[in-house]
Amino acid sequence: MRALLIAGNWKLNPTSTEAAAALAEGVKNGLGTATDVHVAVAPPFVFLTKVDQVLAGSPIGLAAQDLHWEPSGAFTGEISAAMLVDVGCTHVIIGHSERRHGMGETDARVNAKLKAALAAKLIPIVCVGETKEERLAEKTEDVLLAQLSGSLAGLTAEEAAGVVLAYEPVWAIGTGLTATPEQAQAVHAFIRKWLAETFGEATAGRVVVQYGGSVKPANAAELLACPDIDGALVGGAALKADDFLGIVQAGRDVAARGK
Ligand code: PEP
Repeated sequence: MRALLIAGNWKLNPTSTEAAAALAEGVKNGLGTATDVHVAVAPPFVFLTKVDQVLAGSPIGLAAQDLHWEPSGAFTGEISAAMLVDVGCTHVIIGHSERRHGMGETDARVNAKLKAALAAKLIPIVCVGETKEERLAEKTEDVLLAQLSGSLAGLTAEEAAGVVLAYEPVWAIGTGLTATPEQAQAVHAFIRKWLAETFGEATAGRVVVQYGGSVKPANAAELLACPDIDGALVGGAALKADDFLGIVQAGRDVAARGK
């Protein structure tokens, strides 16, 4: 059985260490010691150390929003996997659509970053998803096939089992539009089928596949109840502790019903 993972991607927010600490504190206090679903937050790099201190003693994972594949050297502005581990990170988001589409992140780079994360024992959250134009042109599966095969190239089945995938339709990110549970489940089932064909049934059954795209407390329950949706990657609603905790609670309710 796969534990649900609810992760909050804070993106370029909030704007101060104090506000980041307060948000982390709110999530920590609301969650308490619950571990029936896994929870992680992804603050900007500069707040990681502070948020790690705030989260001490809680089961909440600490995620970075990106990393570089090289361990050290002349790479101005970059952060390595070992540096993330050093400041307390447990997870790292890789290939978010805002980096794929806004910063020229390629599948080859995502693959190099994924291998660096796995080597450092960070749990990678690898994002994939189609644009609105690609969906309208009925290219969703082709796009996902290219992203999945490029991003996970060269992984063993055991390595693949430790990867978290996040299906994030680009048209649903930050837009208020959400994939219907039927649309999301169909894509998650397609991803699971690809995992089974590529790495075997047993591995496919172990991979956590999150949904992301305007997940809110009001729509989380029906998405998380879908058989192949194993959690949520949350952007906007992760910036208010109560909203994020509402999504976590929806996951806990689904888990309590035996999913
Ligand atoms: C995201 O950034 O990964 C995301 C899903 O954002 P939002 O929840 O705001 O759509």
